[in-house]
This record gives sequence, structure tokens and C-alpha cells, in this order.
Amino acid sequence: MAKKKTHAVNVNKPNTWVKYRKGLCHSCMGGCCSLPVEARLSDLVRMELVDPFEAEVLAPKKIAKRLLKAGAIQHFNFKDSKFTLAQRANNDCVYLNPQTRLCTIYEKRPDICRNHPRIGPRPGFCAYQEKS
Ligand code: SF4
Repeated sequence: MAKKKTHAVNVNKPNTWVKYRKGLCHSCMGGCCSLPVEARLSDLVRMELVDPFEAEVLAPKKIAKRLLKAGAIQHFNFKDSKFTLAQRANNDCVYLNPQTRLCTIYEKRPDICRNHPRIGPRPGFCAYQEKS
């Protein structure tokens, strides 16, 4: 009898990802939520990290300075004004519930998360890892 092939997914290697299909997320550890998330200012306003007034009157780099200090972001890209959300030591997004492996701000999550895996490092594929 032929041995069943095992497929080791490495979150950081998109060439090991699996083809996304509907329903896959229900049994997944949330591999995509350990990738760096680049958010726009409008995402941060929806996430209530930035006040709409602050977003209007302050330069993004000033806002980034405050968010870096608060530990809400880990990086600010001056070139395209994108804010990389903070990650835990194990690379999990800070908004991922470590027990349920579900997003704690699902309704307010950044656009990049909404569009994954349609848009991303390997469109149509994701870092599926079965929940243990
Ligand atoms: S914001 Fe939510 S969906 Fe996006 S990476 Fe973090 S936990 Fe995952």
C-alpha cells in the first residue's frame, strides 16, 4: 500500500503553502496570523488604535512614534506609510487569541487580513496548519 504523503507547511515559505478552499480556516491554527501584518492608517482608525481626528491632523510618522512607544506596532514604513502590527515572541499577531486561535478584533481587522489569501505572498494559497 502506498504511504500517505505528509506535507509540512512552513509559514515563512509560501512554496510550502496549501491551496486555499472554503472552510479550511475552521480547523486551522491561524498560520496566516503569524505573518507580519502591514496596516494602513484607515485600518488603525477602524481598530480604534488611532482617533479619526488624530489621523486627520497628525503626520503618520508622528502617529507611528506614539504607537511604537505603546507597543502597538513594531515598524513604520515611511515610503508607503504602512504600520506593521506588533507580534508576540512566537510571531503570533497580538490580536490572535492564543487559546482559541481566533482573531479578537475580527470585525475591525485590517484590510490585508480581509483580503488574505486572495492577495498575499502567494495568492490563492495559505499557511494552513491543523489545530492540535
Ligand atoms: S488582526 Fe486578526 S486576522 Fe489579522 S493577523 Fe491579527 S489576529 Fe489575524
